[in-house]
Amino acid sequence: MILPLAAWAAGTTAADTARAVRDAGLDLDQCYRVRDLNLYKEDIKLYFNDGYLIFSKPVAGERIAAVFTADVEGGDGEVLLLPPQRGERQSLARFTGSPNLDEHFTRALLVFTADSGRALLESIEKGSGHKAPEMAPLLAEQWTPVVSNILDSFAPRIAGDLLTPTRTDGFLLAALAGKTLGNFDVIYDPAASEQIVVGQLMERNQRAVYDVWTRFRARRFRTGSAAPPEPLFSLTQFRIEASLDENLRLQAVTRATLTVGSQPLRVFAFEVSRAEQVTAARIDGAPAELLINESARSRALRADENEAFLLATPDFLAPGSVHRVEFDHQGALITSPGNGVYFVGARSNWYPRSGSAFADYDLVFRYPRRLTLVTPGDIVKDTIDGDWRITERRTPVPIRVAGFNLGDYEKISTTAGGLTVDVFGNRNLDPALQPPPKTTTITSVIPTGPRTPPRQEVMTVIQHVPPPDPLARLNAVAADVSASFQYFSGLFGPPPLKTLTVSPIPGTFGQGFPGLVYLSTLSYLDPSERPAETRNATLQTFFSDLMVAHEVAHQWWGNVVMPKSYQDEWLPEALAHYSALLWLEKKKGLNALEDVMANFQADLLQTGENGQTVESAGPISWGYRLEASQNSESYRVITYEKGAWILHMLRKRLGKERFLKVLAELRRRCEFRAAGTADLLDLVKKSLPPGVSADSMDTFFDNWVYSTGIPTLRVKYSVKGKAPSWKISGTVEQSSVDDNFSVDIPVEIQFAKGAAQTVWVRTSSDPVPFSATLKQPPVRVYIPAGVNVLATRK
Ligand SMILES: [Zn+2]
Repeated sequence: MILPLAAWAAGTTAADTARAVRDAGLDLDQCYRVRDLNLYKEDIKLYFNDGYLIFSKPVAGERIAAVFTADVEGGDGEVLLLPPQRGERQSLARFTGSPNLDEHFTRALLVFTADSGRALLESIEKGSGHKAPEMAPLLAEQWTPVVSNILDSFAPRIAGDLLTPTRTDGFLLAALAGKTLGNFDVIYDPAASEQIVVGQLMERNQRAVYDVWTRFRARRFRTGSAAPPEPLFSLTQFRIEASLDENLRLQAVTRATLTVGSQPLRVFAFEVSRAEQVTAARIDGAPAELLINESARSRALRADENEAFLLATPDFLAPGSVHRVEFDHQGALITSPGNGVYFVGARSNWYPRSGSAFADYDLVFRYPRRLTLVTPGDIVKDTIDGDWRITERRTPVPIRVAGFNLGDYEKISTTAGGLTVDVFGNRNLDPALQPPPKTTTITSVIPTGPRTPPRQEVMTVIQHVPPPDPLARLNAVAADVSASFQYFSGLFGPPPLKTLTVSPIPGTFGQGFPGLVYLSTLSYLDPSERPAETRNATLQTFFSDLMVAHEVAHQWWGNVVMPKSYQDEWLPEALAHYSALLWLEKKKGLNALEDVMANFQADLLQTGENGQTVESAGPISWGYRLEASQNSESYRVITYEKGAWILHMLRKRLGKERFLKVLAELRRRCEFRAAGTADLLDLVKKSLPPGVSADSMDTFFDNWVYSTGIPTLRVKYSVKGKAPSWKISGTVEQSSVDDNFSVDIPVEIQFAKGAAQTVWVRTSSDPVPFSATLKQPPVRVYIPAGVNVLATRK
């Protein structure tokens, strides 16, 4: 369909368009009495059975909003939606009490671009409605403020679509007033990796949270009849010139090469940290328009700390054309807790970005010479200019994101096997790690006279505790980084960046960027000098062993192999965590790994106030959606600890050698591109040991990745026969999980001498029989629950 957009689009600014969207208002000439009017958008079915519908005024020739109200005798609207996967049905059921959405509504606010508005009008013309001008003034009066409000929320998004006229598959938001579920949204967004979202904006602990009831790929993307949405443009060849003043405020110019995709474009979406302001943008040297304005609702939907903004050019840029884009930006990203220790707040989003495709970086920093600034890449230039130091670095290979860190550092450098490790530590103590003073009370007895009783005096003594050495483990950390870097290089192939820089970050977390690791200041302290609340065995292992190797492993998982969508975000985290456990096993033996796995299982089985386990909050594939869960630990424990368990169980099913080959192959196959859970499953299926069916791996992923549940297992058995042939037969019973839960679990049969024998049994809601022929009588028959399989034993 040809729209009168060419005239509109040329010369109209993005701001004008956004303003026109905000001011659109309702159209008194476009009010209809509707009956049996339907709107189908992929899996979304909206029925406007009986009521009134009024459209917005057109913007750029298109209707962009409508209001439906069932405020008539017998008026009714209904929405139907059936999530395609079991996990998504479970999710919907958790929020609404039903695995499918079938809700009647009294009011619908619709916001749309491209096809949905046209489909509604065509259907009305074909007889499912007739004009009702008498109702128009009343409806307009009632609904104009609400429509303005919602259009204001989505103005940049709608303006972006209107200025991209080749986009035929439009956005659709239906904000519904449900009869039993209250207000909720049904959204179709063709630009997202999972296009359909049903959710509700809620307030929890005085904070706006967006509860995602269900989210999945729309039918035509699921079935493969449409290709996944392609990026509209790509960025390569970054050059960032950044300067940090005496207060460490950042002022920067970021330049990148922008290549337009297969459609002409004049609007480009970017993101940057909310701590920054983008003050100007240029395309090929000419000023470009910036549209920065995002609503709480669209932010909540994206659930990150970035500001989304649009850059608009006066004319369309041709498909495939290459341009130079430039941004001026600034912000206070660096804070200091004191004592000459610094914290970089915006680590991944300190410069404008769009997506996370691999790019080359040229990074120039001007900063106070008293400090050391670290960033990935080879040094091109390093000069001193008075009190300032200017360092330029260039990355030898494309990377996903460029980070930086700075401080007053001590440094240890080691090179071995072609890999260099530079480990930096703060010379001064992070003030948060200074132990509180010790208070002791001293009671002294003071004689007062021959006939009076002695007086007691109580004195409180405040004793200063000497500060821990902030560099106590600098050598140990450097040795561990270097050795684990080499170990992983042997397992997964050499890393693309041969130099790894490790630097401290105040807080209890770490982060692994290409060529640059941020390591908690706690990891540098002697375990005996860490804060009291971290001095238990689990956290000591975490800060001394796991965190370092986890962040080093991100050089592969996350920086070479990236997650395809939020559903795959668990994959790099679980792979990094399990890699760290493999390194722990290498250093301290299998028992050390098994101790950690047992702790992880205990964390997953902890119950919250509602009596539900942490693990039951949702499948690991929900990614960020787990953060909205009642239990604040769910996201972390499920992503990292259940993730490690999933990989551990795969290892037990494949055998260690095959399992490690799968990981090496995953890196090889997915190098410099996104990998999904499906890639892992595919490789696993190609590496199965004899006797393990591909179908059992589908079952494995369906239950452990796309669903929830930790079973309680019980084995019963009897042995018959005599030497040299014995027969064991028994059953495995499963409880604590729903009836659909079914996984292969090992039954271990141990003998007085020789290797144990393993029988794999697929569990079910009914007891499952098993049997095996043995050469000698067993001494022990058991399920290695909590050791080789995520389960408890009854
Ligand atoms: Zn991580």
